Amino acid sequence: MRKIFNIFSKALACVLSGILLCGCGASGSVLCQSMDTAMGTVVAQTIFCPDEESGEEASDAIIELLNQLERQELSWRLETSEVFAVNGAAGSGDGFLLSKEMTLVINECLRLSEESEGAFDVTLGSVTRLWNIDSWAAGGVTEGFVPPDRELLIKTLGDSGSSKLRLEPEVRGDNGETVQARIFLTEGMQLDLGAVGKGIALDLILDSLGSSEVNGAVVSVGGSVLTYGRKPNGAAWKVGIRDPLNPSENIGMLLLEGQWCVSTSGDYERYVEVDGVRYHHILDPATGMPADSGVRSVTILSKEGLLSDALSTACFVLGVEKGMALADRCGAEALFVTAEGETVMTEGMEEYYWSE
Ligand code: AMP
Ligand code: MG
Repeated sequence: MRKIFNIFSKALACVLSGILLCGCGASGSVLCQSMDTAMGTVVAQTIFCPDEESGEEASDAIIELLNQLERQELSWRLETSEVFAVNGAAGSGDGFLLSKEMTLVINECLRLSEESEGAFDVTLGSVTRLWNIDSWAAGGVTEGFVPPDRELLIKTLGDSGSSKLRLEPEVRGDNGETVQARIFLTEGMQLDLGAVGKGIALDLILDSLGSSEVNGAVVSVGGSVLTYGRKPNGAAWKVGIRDPLNPSENIGMLLLEGQWCVSTSGDYERYVEVDGVRYHHILDPATGMPADSGVRSVTILSKEGLLSDALSTACFVLGVEKGMALADRCGAEALFVTAEGETVMTEGMEEYYWSE
């Protein structure tokens, strides 16, 4: 349980970590704000609830849920996780029997991989490890970085490809649907769920908020943001969209009411620069190189977290034209910032976008 302080400055919440600040908000509701680190990223929560106790409870539950998701399911580093076990079984004839939750996730990832014609691909693990993306800082400074050897990169890329991944239904539901599947990775293939982890987290947070006393909340997990319920004064939630050309500033914001998921993928999030060349963390599965589609960031608005997160990555790889078409096919809204700093968005996104 974290310590509660009277709220005296909103700015303070931005510099404190692991601390929950609660205070009286408008209309008798209590406002709780916190900053934590979980899933290797910053988690910021703004929660409106009936009293401090319920706010603290909801906030603690969210952090515990994220830690559990990382520990038990998504981490490729932690031996305790399902992804670690799946990767360990790559090339084995027995494969690995997925949990129900992971069966759903992998099924959806394969569907989106197909839908995006391979632009989104969770089997890029060996390639992302070759680039050592996990060690890249948000600030973009990594000393002594050398890009991977071309030949090795091409060979490693050959180990990836969602179409080579096999899922065999093992437990079926009443209507014949797959409830649990066995996964078979080919030799050398490794899963990397980094492009959907934060989105999966939003979906779980939404469930958790639904069974809490929280009236309204904005929770951001890295580049993915969930809005939920209402502010006591009825105003819209404001979700800022970073300017990829100047990441300390916003280019605009989305004004949202009720439940939404907003995910952004940008070349400013994790990168290294060598001799004026920026190597960023979103790879084009066709080349194994950082995607170069003429966009600097993509923001997706959707009701579902996994979808918004997967699409932000896929649309970044595809660029404006194909990305817009993909978002449209998937029933999501998209906003692109191009290399020239131009903002291009789907018609539906215009309804929510506000800029000075
Ligand atoms: P995001 O910031 O959501 O776009 O996710 C980027 C992360 O997903 C990277 O750090 C990699 O771990 C992984 N990744 C990179 N490129 C791809 C891709 N084309 N498809 C799926 N995952 C990717
Ligand atoms: Mg993503």
